[in-house]
Amino acid sequence: MSDPLMENDDVETMILDSVEKWLERDVRPHVLRFDHGDEYPLEMVEQMKELGLFGATIPEEYGGLGLSATTYAKVIEKIAETWMSLTGIMNSHLIMSSCVSRMGTDAQKQKYLPRFATGEIRGGLALTEPDCGTDLQAIRVRAVRDGDDYVVNGTKAWITNGIEGSCYALLVKTDIDAEPRHKGMSMLIAEKGEGFEVTHKFDKLGYKGIDTAGLTFIDYRVPVENLIGGEEGRGMQTALGGLELGRINIAARGCGLASAALKDSVAYSQVRQTFGKPICEHQAIQLKLGHMATNLEAARLLTYAAAAAHDRGQRCDMEAGMAKYFASETAVENSLEAMRIHGAYGYSREYHVERYFRDAPLMCIGEGTNEIQRMIIAKQLIERNPV
Ligand SMILES: Cc1cc2nc3c(=O)[nH]c(=O)nc-3n(C[C@H](O)[C@H](O)[C@H](O)COP(=O)(O)OP(=O)(O)OC[C@H]3O[C@@H](n4cnc5c(N)ncnc54)[C@H](O)[C@@H]3O)c2cc1C
Repeated sequence: MSDPLMENDDVETMILDSVEKWLERDVRPHVLRFDHGDEYPLEMVEQMKELGLFGATIPEEYGGLGLSATTYAKVIEKIAETWMSLTGIMNSHLIMSSCVSRMGTDAQKQKYLPRFATGEIRGGLALTEPDCGTDLQAIRVRAVRDGDDYVVNGTKAWITNGIEGSCYALLVKTDIDAEPRHKGMSMLIAEKGEGFEVTHKFDKLGYKGIDTAGLTFIDYRVPVENLIGGEEGRGMQTALGGLELGRINIAARGCGLASAALKDSVAYSQVRQTFGKPICEHQAIQLKLGHMATNLEAARLLTYAAAAAHDRGQRCDMEAGMAKYFASETAVENSLEAMRIHGAYGYSREYHVERYFRDAPLMCIGEGTNEIQRMIIAKQLIERNPV
């Protein structure tokens, strides 16, 4: 079995090199402008299409790059180190794609995956509603069969790529009386059209540039052929399967942010002087740097271990949960420590550090909150170690 830390074959090296060059040339110089203006990075999205990033984990037979979860995690870490928002534009799109590639019918795969891979159709995952996020079985968006269509009514909230995207994996109730409740849930491929309305853009603390929107469906019709897998009652299973890769993505984003916070702190602490010497020579700062670096390394190891388990085709909800939990908390901690190390400048919008501090908490919420991750880990521990 290959060690994911050693896996650095030619394809991976080539992809990581191209991504790094793109980030340095076309992204890093513009991040503060886009972040502060909360402006959607249209040109960067076009460049991401050219790099093939919208097909990163889509199988090669459908025109994607077919990257392993391990290589994908490394790409995401690199991008998040520069600007975390861009990873969100890819991630929810790729979760939608993974819902189709894992659970879709052959016709759905043929129709959608090649267009997802090029980025011609982009979109995301529409699960959350105004009244429920964690408790997904309580969703109220309803799809009622009418001839060859489903008629959809209801409201989704917090949908990433909701404004700029055009197609969504939409979780709906097809049977409101089913018990257990998940048996009444289905997933539709929902392209924007009549009755599909974007109601508003959420104004967020961080994660700027990328659109997060409310969606309302009023007698919106979806052809029955867009029911993922062609069978009702598999919506929850479809959503949860996609979230394993989603959690590896969030863990990798956490590593990227934690790494950026550490790198900036290592550099700044060597140039800022107090009491006649660089602050990196004060023990109080060294303790912070030592702690930040150690936690970052641990977060990376957990992330690669989860990605390797995913690549081996193993169930990895515990591993992905641990990686997501630890890496996101490390991102929060490292970004706060970086702010302290930078003193007043850490509180200034002229530096990236205050952005890390605003971006990092999202990793503790998205793809299942960290409270829920710890419960998933505990349940798996018990299941894997019966007495
Ligand atoms: C910027 C952003 C982008 C997002 N993008 C998307 C997207 O693209 N698609 C999408 O579908 N959703 C998206 N979301 C929504 C996100 O997935 C939810 O916010 C998340 O699942 C938590 O749901 P909630 O906010 O409703 O919190 P709630 O479920 O209301 O939870 C509130 C608190 O209670 C805790 N809690 C809940 N249940 C339990 C329990 N059983 N035991 C212990 N603690 C519990 C939670 O951990 C949390 O601390 C996004 C959110 C944000 C902020």
